[in-house]
Amino acid sequence: MTQLTILNLRFTAQVETTIQLAEFKGSALRGAWQSHLRTLYCSAGATADPLHQQLCPVCYLLSRETGSGADRRPYVFRPPLSDQTRFEAGEPFVFEVSLFGQARNLLPYLVLAVNEMGLNQGLGQPIHAGRQRGRFRLVQLEAVDPFRPAVEVLMKGDLSVSWPTLIITEESVMAKAEQLLAQANKDLAVTFLTPMRLIVDRKLLRRPEFGTFFQRLLERWSALRQQFADETPLDSLTWNRLISLAQAVQLVKNDCRWQEVRGHSTRLDRAQELGGLVGQAIYHPPESGSWRELLPYLLWGQVMQVGKNVVKGGGVYQLGIGN
Ligand SMILES: [Zn+2]
Repeated sequence: MTQLTILNLRFTAQVETTIQLAEFKGSALRGAWQSHLRTLYCSAGATADPLHQQLCPVCYLLSRETGSGADRRPYVFRPPLSDQTRFEAGEPFVFEVSLFGQARNLLPYLVLAVNEMGLNQGLGQPIHAGRQRGRFRLVQLEAVDPFRPAVEVLMKGDLSVSWPTLIITEESVMAKAEQLLAQANKDLAVTFLTPMRLIVDRKLLRRPEFGTFFQRLLERWSALRQQFADETPLDSLTWNRLISLAQAVQLVKNDCRWQEVRGHSTRLDRAQELGGLVGQAIYHPPESGSWRELLPYLLWGQVMQVGKNVVKGGGVYQLGIGN
């Protein structure tokens, strides 16, 4: 299928002074991280010349702005998934970042930027004296493969980070697929944990139709594989086969709702709609063998995320058994 690899990192921070966030925490988290990364390591800013853009690790991570919102940047954020918006001193604060392909070599920059961001710039609303934001300290970093019960501690306490060996590959995806197939011979449940925002024919998708969801996922999978594993685009025969299978999948139970989220785009300097579908959908396959073909892509999508605003934490979902 693919040689693409993904390093999935779980950051555990300890809150030092109260952090107040909006309901959708990914936007603030990614915004603070991005601006701190630039302040620390890149003097050129977003308008840097092409040579700088090629050489600078920060520009590599951050500057692949297509302007369309359909970003193919080498990372995604997964914000804390609870409803909690206020984090008091001493409380833990956990979020994840996935890095695609060779972007994992930038791990040291990422770790330092997260730690510096927490201690200096802070996070969330400026609720403290002098318009300071709440501060946190990075206390633990782990590599996590969600498809295996495997966790590798890369850093604990001080800031010496060991190099990760636990990396998500096709092998772990396929093993998980087999495990799910053994349990799910009929329906599959997809729980959308952060807003999934898909646009079809310039309209927002308000019902989680499987065909559209899967097509966007496959487009993203193919593009990421091309961009970060130097592989050719998916051949049209396979593409058409998968899409027609996906279009025949039925939405049999829809417990999704629309979650409105307003954010701010620094790049565009205007308010940005981040809302999308959240909740659970149950899908029924057209034939008993369909999941065998579709499931590997669905699993990859769990660590790639789908739809708009994935770099801000949008489009996080979890697969489960629906019957
Ligand atoms: Zn730069």
